[in-house]
Amino acid sequence: MKELSRIAEAVQASTTMAIDSLFKQMKADGIDVIGFGAGEPDFHTPDHIKAAGITAIEQNFTRYTPAGGTLELRQAVCDRLQADCQVSYQPNQVVVTSGAKHAVYAALRALINPGDEIILPAPSWVSYYELIKMAGGVPVLLTAGEAEHFKITPERLEASVTPRTKAVILNNPSNPTGMMYGREELKAVADVCVKYDLYVIDDEIYYSLVYDGAEFVSLPSLGDGIKERCILINGVSKSYAMTGWRIGYACANDKIAKVIANYLSHSTGSPCAISQKAALAALSGPQDEVEQMRQAFEARRNYIVERMNQIPGISCIKPQGAFYVMMNIEQLLGKTLHGVTITDGDVFADLFLKKGLVAVVPCSGFGSPSFVRWSYATSMDQIREGLDRLERFLAN
Ligand code: PMP
Ligand code: GLU
Repeated sequence: MKELSRIAEAVQASTTMAIDSLFKQMKADGIDVIGFGAGEPDFHTPDHIKAAGITAIEQNFTRYTPAGGTLELRQAVCDRLQADCQVSYQPNQVVVTSGAKHAVYAALRALINPGDEIILPAPSWVSYYELIKMAGGVPVLLTAGEAEHFKITPERLEASVTPRTKAVILNNPSNPTGMMYGREELKAVADVCVKYDLYVIDDEIYYSLVYDGAEFVSLPSLGDGIKERCILINGVSKSYAMTGWRIGYACANDKIAKVIANYLSHSTGSPCAISQKAALAALSGPQDEVEQMRQAFEARRNYIVERMNQIPGISCIKPQGAFYVMMNIEQLLGKTLHGVTITDGDVFADLFLKKGLVAVVPCSGFGSPSFVRWSYATSMDQIREGLDRLERFLAN
C-alpha cells in the first residue's frame, strides 16, 4: 500500500488526552485511582448556561450557522473582551471555532507557509508543538527554566528570530506552568514582535483564572502595533466549565479573521449551533459563578503548593494563574523508587500511576523532562488524598 501522509504520521498523540483516557479507563475498571491529569474543571457547567442549550434544542436552533459563528455570539465575545480585557474588536474580527484548540490550529493554518518557523516558548502546552508541525511549520523551542519562572525575556526572544520566523506563540497565563507575564514583561515581548514584524498567536484561555489579586494584561490591549499582529485565542471551556461544549474563538484583524473563517467553512462547516447558544449565555449572562470557581481554584492552589513544598525530594514554585502546578523532581533523578530508577518525568509518572494510583502528566511533552504537571482542577478532598499518596509513594 502507498505511504500515508508524512506530516500526519509524524504527529504524536496528546499526552494530556492519553493520560486522561488511561485514568478514566482505570476508574471504570474499578481501580481506586485519583486524576490530576487533564486540565478540565471538575465543576459542572452553570445551570443558566445548560438551560440555554436546552432551550436551543427545544426551539429547533439545530441547523448550520455561519462558518465563523452567529453574529449574536461574535458580538457577545466583543462585549466580554471589552469588559474583561479592555480590548476592542468588531464582530467581523471574531471567528467562533469548535474549541480553542481548533482556533489555534486554524490560526496556524492562516499564517504558515511551508517551512516557516514558529517560536514556541517552553514549557508549553503539548498541542502547540504538534499543531505547528501539522500546519507545515517548524517549531523553534525557546526554553525558560524554573529560575526564570518559566518566562521568556525579550533578549532571548530577539536572539531566536531568523529571516524565516513568522510568529510567536504566547500562552498567558500558561499551561503547564501557571505563570503570568506582568504588564512591563509583556510590553517588552510585544515590542520585539512589532520590531521584527512577527505575528503572535496569543492564547489567553486562562485569563479569568488569576490569583492574589494580580492584574491580567491582555496582549492586544497594549497598542495598535501589537494588536494588528495578534491572533487572540480564547474560549469558554475553562472559565465556564464547558470543556465538552467545544466552543472557542479567535480574534484578529479583518483580513486574518476572514482567512480563518474561509478555512473553517471547509474544515468544520460551523461550530455546534446548540453550544453557540450556551456560550452566548455564558459570555453575556451573570459572571458570579466564574468568580466562585476562581476562588475555589485559588484555595486549592494555596493548599497544593504549601504541602508540596513540605515534602522532601520534590518542590514547586507558586503559579499565578490557570490550574496547574509544575512539580520539580530533579532531586529524585537517579534514585530508586519501588525498584525502579527514576530517570525522568515519564518514568516517574508511569510509576506513580501504577504504584501510587495517582495520575499526573509528565512534562517531557511540554519541553521539561524533569517536571510533572498536576492539574488542581479537582476537589480539595482529592487533592488532600493525592498528596497523602505522594508522601507514601516517596517514603517507600
Ligand atoms: N489552550 C490551552 C493553553 C489549553 O490548555 C487548552 C486546553 N485544552 C486549550 C487551548 C483548548 O481548549 P478547548 O477545550 O477550548 O479546545
Ligand atoms: N488543555 C488541557 C490539558 O492540558 C486539556 C487536555 C488537552 O486538550 O490537552 O490538560
